[in-house]
Amino acid sequence: MAATSDKIMNRTQDGFVHHASSGLKSGLNTTATITSSTVVANTHFDVIIIGAGFTGLMAARELSLQNRKVLLVEARDRIGGRTFTTEFENEKYEMGGTWIHWSQPHVWTEVTRYGLSIVESKGATADRLSLLFDNGSRLKIASMSDLFTEVCEVMNKYSNVDGVQGRTIFPLPHDPFAAKEINQTYDKLSMQDRLDQISSTLSKEMYEFMDAYLSMNSQCRLSESGFIDHIRWWALGDYETFRLFDKTSRYKISEGTTALAQAIFNDCHNVQLLLSTPVVSVSRKDDNNITICTQNGQLYSGRTTIITIPLNTLYKTEFIPPLKSEKQRVINERQCRGGSKFAVKLEEPIGKWCGYAPYPNPITIAFTDDEDGSIIIGFGMEDLIDIQDLNAVKLELNKFLPDIKIKYIIGHDWRSDPLAGGTWGWYRPGQVTSNLLTLQENEPPLFFASSDTANGWRGFIDGALESGLTVVRHVEHYLNEQTE
Ligand SMILES: Cc1cc2nc3c(=O)[nH]c(=O)nc-3n(C[C@H](O)[C@H](O)[C@H](O)COP(=O)(O)OP(=O)(O)OC[C@H]3O[C@@H](n4cnc5c(N)ncnc54)[C@H](O)[C@@H]3O)c2cc1C
Repeated sequence: MAATSDKIMNRTQDGFVHHASSGLKSGLNTTATITSSTVVANTHFDVIIIGAGFTGLMAARELSLQNRKVLLVEARDRIGGRTFTTEFENEKYEMGGTWIHWSQPHVWTEVTRYGLSIVESKGATADRLSLLFDNGSRLKIASMSDLFTEVCEVMNKYSNVDGVQGRTIFPLPHDPFAAKEINQTYDKLSMQDRLDQISSTLSKEMYEFMDAYLSMNSQCRLSESGFIDHIRWWALGDYETFRLFDKTSRYKISEGTTALAQAIFNDCHNVQLLLSTPVVSVSRKDDNNITICTQNGQLYSGRTTIITIPLNTLYKTEFIPPLKSEKQRVINERQCRGGSKFAVKLEEPIGKWCGYAPYPNPITIAFTDDEDGSIIIGFGMEDLIDIQDLNAVKLELNKFLPDIKIKYIIGHDWRSDPLAGGTWGWYRPGQVTSNLLTLQENEPPLFFASSDTANGWRGFIDGALESGLTVVRHVEHYLNEQTE
């Protein structure tokens, strides 16, 4: 391995912190910034991997275990992609992907492999709820124990589109094509369509609660979010409300996601890493020869390439010759763009707390994350709030919690990030059945992988690791066939 992760905190260009008492600071400290390798001129790699998020890191480690000569090229000044851990004023913050679960098979294997541990986000199970109804004009304070039965009933009703809790749609949650014909019917629906179908049976408050929860999941207005992705989450959550909540937003890696990214990277052998190196084009010369061109005009060549660029920004990469027209069409379509995530440090702790508000409230869900409740994690909808504006965020949080005072806000605007184009993956109506298979298709010697196109936990860290593993199987098969 030519570059090592030595756990030194450096400032990355990503993220910001805005202290109430001082100005805006961009660039947060993280150990995800690693020294780049010096690549020897004219090296011909077995595989060039574009992107050092969890998909790219997994692929790099697995290929290096097969003794492949690998170049990992990353546009950012750090590894980890849509995840990174930062430390500020003695607190650890996750700026992107955070929560994992033991039932997520790929990520849990890595937790075991590297001896990592998990810690609970306390507010994820808060009993004290603030619910903002009627376009943000009415605040209701409730307890989850009061709402528990009703929330479960409504979630069951919403998901029970086929009379058996979605089981005919995703009978095998890690195989999105196990019931392809049935999927086609339900894939036409948006999340809003489904809410409309059951709305006459819901109280106005439960309708608004569902709107808040569902639009938080897709990070997009419900009319643009595919219903079938809700059923996929539901199936992965064992068709049960609180198991789904636990799996998606309760437990995080104690050591931080960056610790996992570093552990995978440190296990790579014979992998050269180039950071701060955006790739602008990929040229196929023949079946065994590709060249990538970086923004500063450097060329690197290899036998194959794995492209792990997020779906919402992949359209910017030039392919020479062009990809198959159907592939390029689905790339150009992209997916829901997501919103933003932030953390605020409070002057006074508030204990375990959670707030919900329906779209178009700029914050749909916020909850306390730490033991005493002095840190709130919030999710901004689409571009309805500028999370760098401490006063704007305070104004919105005060609708839920009128008395809180904020010390600082810390976050990263993934929606405007040119290398991410959003947060986690959620497809629009019709895209699962019409686009996913095409997105997964490889055009050897070009191979594609991303959490955004995974089969199971698509849009999660687990999906990235799944996709990284899958693509390595295809690349290995191809390389072995070529040499026979
Ligand atoms: C705010 C937020 C919250 C989330 N919450 C959770 C959660 O709680 N749990 C969970 O499991 N998941 C969560 N996710 C999703 C999860 O983080 C992602 O699905 C996963 O990390 C994506 O991994 P990836 O490797 O496929 O893509 P990425 O991490 O995006 O990696 C792709 C890499 O490619 C690089 N790249 C892009 N273009 C180029 C180029 N032209 N040249 C070179 N490099 C390029 C990017 O910089 C990036 O590093 C969250 C994501 C966000 C943003």
